[in-house]
Amino acid sequence: MTDRAAPVLDRLDDQMPAALERLSELLRIPSISTDPAYADACTAAADWMVADLASMGLDASRRDTPGRPMVVAHADGPPGGEGPHLLFYGHYDVQPVDPLDLWRRDPFDPVVEDGAIRARGASDDKGQLMTFVEALRAWIAVHGAPPCRLTILLEGEEESGSPSLVPFLRENAAELRADLALICDTGLYDDRVPAIATSLRGLLGEEIVIHGANRDLHSGSYGGIAMNPIRVLTRILGGLHDAEGRVRVPGFYDGVPELEPERKKAWQDLGFAAEAFLGEVGLADPAGERGRMPLEMIWSRPTAEINGILGGYTGAGFKTVLPAQASAKVSFRLVAGQDPHRLRESFRDWVMAQIPADCRVEFHGHGASPASAMDTSHPLFDAAREALSEEWGDAAVFTGMGGSIPIAGHFREELGMESMLAGWAKDDDRIHSPNEKYDLDSFHKGMRSWARVLARV
Ligand SMILES: [Zn+2]
Repeated sequence: MTDRAAPVLDRLDDQMPAALERLSELLRIPSISTDPAYADACTAAADWMVADLASMGLDASRRDTPGRPMVVAHADGPPGGEGPHLLFYGHYDVQPVDPLDLWRRDPFDPVVEDGAIRARGASDDKGQLMTFVEALRAWIAVHGAPPCRLTILLEGEEESGSPSLVPFLRENAAELRADLALICDTGLYDDRVPAIATSLRGLLGEEIVIHGANRDLHSGSYGGIAMNPIRVLTRILGGLHDAEGRVRVPGFYDGVPELEPERKKAWQDLGFAAEAFLGEVGLADPAGERGRMPLEMIWSRPTAEINGILGGYTGAGFKTVLPAQASAKVSFRLVAGQDPHRLRESFRDWVMAQIPADCRVEFHGHGASPASAMDTSHPLFDAAREALSEEWGDAAVFTGMGGSIPIAGHFREELGMESMLAGWAKDDDRIHSPNEKYDLDSFHKGMRSWARVLARV
C-alpha cells in the first residue's frame, strides 16, 4: 500500500515550487462570489480550474448556473479497477476583502513570507482544495490513473449561501452521486493533530413575543394588579436550564446518544484545556451540563441559548412602565437524533403552558436544520485516520464540530452520500479576515495526506 504512496510523496516534495506557483495563479483571480462586480472573476477562476483539471487528463467542464458556475470533472480509475467512486468537494470563491486598509498588501497579490502564503482565499478554500488537486496530479503522473473512479465538484457560491447548489445537485444527481464525498474546508484540531470531523451540530431558532395589556401602563396605577409581560418572559427564560445546566424543555434529550467510550477516550486524550479556551474570552467555568467533558459540551451535546431580550424602557433615566409586550430570541444547537421540527413544537407547547390568562404569545421560527453525524463505517474513514496519523505524526482524531457545514447535509439529503471532512487549516489562518494566510506546512503536508489517503483506497 505504502509502496504506491512513496513515489507520489517524492514527486509532491519535488514539485512543491510548481504547486505554489499554481496556487498563486489561482489566488490572483479575485473570485468574490457575493459581489456582482466580481462575477467575471468567478467565471475566470472556474475556467482556470477547468483548464488545470483538464491538463491532468480529467474530463472537466464549467457548468453555468443562475449564479456562479460550478466546475465538474471526472476521472476513471485504473483499467479493470473496482474500488469506490469518490467525490471531492471544494470551493473556488472567496470572501470580500474589506476593510482593505487592514491588509498589509494587495489581497490578490499572493506572497510567500514567514512560512505561509498570504492572500484572500489562501486557506479558505483555494489552498485547501489545491492540496487535493496537487495530490491527484502527482498520483496520475506516477501511476497513470487515479486509484479509483473520481469526481471533482467545485462550487463558486459557498461564501454567499450556495443558492445554486441544491438545484444543481438535484439536476445532476446521477452524475454526481458517489460512494463517499471528501470535503476539504475544515482545519486541524490544533497545529499538530489532524482531524476528521464526523459530526456537525444543527440549529433551531425561535423568537417569542409575549403580549399583555393593550398598551404600555404606568406602574403607579397598574403595578401589582396588571400582569407584566417581562415578568412572564423572564420566568420562562429563567426556567430554560436547570441547576445542572440541562435544558428543561420536555423531550429535549430524547434520542440524544451517549458518546461511545472509544470516542470519549480519544477526546479526553486531546487534553483540551477548558480554562485556556475560556480564559481567552475572559471566562473560567464551563457553563454546560454538569458532569460532561468540555469538548462534549461543544461537539456532541445539544444546547439552548438566549440570544437577545427586548422589552420595556431601556433609554436614559427611568420610566416606571409596564410594557405591553416583551420578546426574546432563543436558539438551540442540535445533535444527531434530535428532530428540529418536533423540538420546535415541544418548545412552543412548553412556553404556552406557562402563559397566564391575561397574556398571549406569538412565535416566529428562524430556521431549523438537523445535525448530522457521519456514518463512519465506510472503510475509508479508518483508512484516512491511519493515513493522516502517518503523515502528521500525531494520531488523527474523529472530532465533532460545534457549528455546521451545510454541504454535508445537502450531499446526504440530495445524493444519499456520506461525507468525510478533513482539512489542514489552522486557527490563526484569519479566514474571512484581512491578511488571510495558509501555512506552507498545511499546504505541503495536506497534499501528502491526500496522497496517503488515495494509496489506501
Ligand atoms: Zn470555506
